[in-house]
Amino acid sequence: MDNVAVISGASRGIGKAIAFKLAEDGYNLLLIARNEERLKETVMELRKQYGVEVLYFILDIARNDMESLKVFLKEHVEEVSILINNAGITRDTLFMRMKEEDYRSVIEVNLLGVFRMTSVVLPYMLKQRNGVIVNISSVVGITGNAGQTNYAASKAGIIGFTKSLAKEVGARNIRVIAVAPGFIETDMTDKLPEKIREDYLSRIPLRRFGTPQDVANLVSFLVSEKASYITGQVFVIDGGMI
Ligand code: NAP
Repeated sequence: MDNVAVISGASRGIGKAIAFKLAEDGYNLLLIARNEERLKETVMELRKQYGVEVLYFILDIARNDMESLKVFLKEHVEEVSILINNAGITRDTLFMRMKEEDYRSVIEVNLLGVFRMTSVVLPYMLKQRNGVIVNISSVVGITGNAGQTNYAASKAGIIGFTKSLAKEVGARNIRVIAVAPGFIETDMTDKLPEKIREDYLSRIPLRRFGTPQDVANLVSFLVSEKASYITGQVFVIDGGMI
């Protein structure tokens, strides 16, 4: 398989919308998540709708041995055009109540996971002398947010990672970009209490929550040739919230 987009956290929400958009754009896909049933459903929908090749790989990007992904790539993939580091979790609570485990698990998935996925995929891009890596950060990584010291630290870390890696690999024609969404309607935000949702909405000038498709459209542009002179930047997509 060549011209592949590897997407972590592709079974639902923003990652799933990115998968559909990049399939529409003609990329073959390798989708990653932990829950096989849900990921398989997404793969089936994609195969039905688009004429591209879609593979999936079950992986906990924070905990599993990455050697298995390396072997899978070696067997099935010749060329990786795009890596979307999208998988992420929240464990919200005020700092004084936060357990070390709440902090550690969010950093491990959101930040260490980006390192681990990039370590496996970047060698392909270095060899090809092209590629685009999009890391999904958050507006919270820029502004901070009460109750999210762990999440904000991970998302701010992604921005530093993105800017640094962009400087290291630009000469190899590899672009590295961060996207910082605001409030996007997915499973992640569904679990927030109604009062908090209303408070967010009142602070969004465009007076609506974002959709996963909004983010996917931005990603589609950023990975395209139209954005070939963009690297090392953070793109906020938040309806004007921050
Ligand atoms: P979501 O609906 O909760 O989906 C998260 C995805 O990540 C799922 O596919 C999940 O699948 C996968 N995932 C979680 N932990 C994983 C792990 N350890 N290894 C592999 N896959 C894992 O979340 P979302 O709202 O679409 O968020 C996607 C990204 O956007 C996240 O990085 C999030 O922080 C960021 N973001 C979201 C918002 C928002 O308002 N929704 C705003 C700013 C930024 P499994 O559970 O099957 O593994």
